[in-house]
Amino acid sequence: LAVLTLAGMVLMLVSWRTASYRRRQRLLNTQITARTQELSEKNRALEQAGAEREVLLQRLEHQAMHDALTNLPNRRAGDDHLQQALREALAGQSPLTVALLDIDHFKQINDRYGHEAGDRVLRDVAGLLQLGSGHFVSRHGGEEFLVVLRGVEPVLAAQQLRELGQRVARLRCEEVDPALVITASIGLAALGPGQDTVRTLLAAADRQLYRAKREGRNRV
Ligand code: GH3
Ligand code: MG
Ligand code: MG
Repeated sequence: LAVLTLAGMVLMLVSWRTASYRRRQRLLNTQITARTQELSEKNRALEQAGAEREVLLQRLEHQAMHDALTNLPNRRAGDDHLQQALREALAGQSPLTVALLDIDHFKQINDRYGHEAGDRVLRDVAGLLQLGSGHFVSRHGGEEFLVVLRGVEPVLAAQQLRELGQRVARLRCEEVDPALVITASIGLAALGPGQDTVRTLLAAADRQLYRAKREGRNRV
């Protein structure tokens, strides 16, 4: 009887240990499942944050190089482009013409129709220049735009710019005033001796722009 009792007690002890081991095992499994789920959720959140960061970086990159009003490349992008175009033109001994286009009496448009109407005109002119010129165009500042004509002989470049000026004069800004005539003056400079850096090319184009203004505006 004593042996049987002992065996029974041993059996009970073993089955109690087994049951408690299984209980612990189940608890552990539940914890592992919960942790795995938590980790995979964190992983998903990290992946999403990474994708959002990428989109944000791209947007910032775009903002750094584009003008918010017209969405044209901004002055920094224009300078970069011109620097690159100049390097290539010098290396390939190909022609390069730089033009500065400035809207005439733009202040009067602002004064007469308001600043928002002026913004509308700037956007419309920017759109025309970008689509109509076939060349790189950036907003150089205020109501002034840079046009970079790569690989075009200066005489042809001047002709193209005259046509561009005529298209600006034909532009109608219906939302502002269908009768409003917008004109622009353009100064250009071609790559050549003494005009072979970004600074000297822009300075020469600027001088020519002021000459166009002095001589009556609406001209190249
Ligand atoms: P000019 O024919 O000699 O170039 O005369 P202008 O009136 O065009 O030139 P001015 O430099 O006297 O005036 C330029 C005006 O452009 C002044 C400034 O307030 C305005 N302007 C500059 N940037 C913006 C802009 O983003 N939006 C608007 N609406 N106006 C602007
Ligand atoms: Mg002006
Ligand atoms: Mg100006």
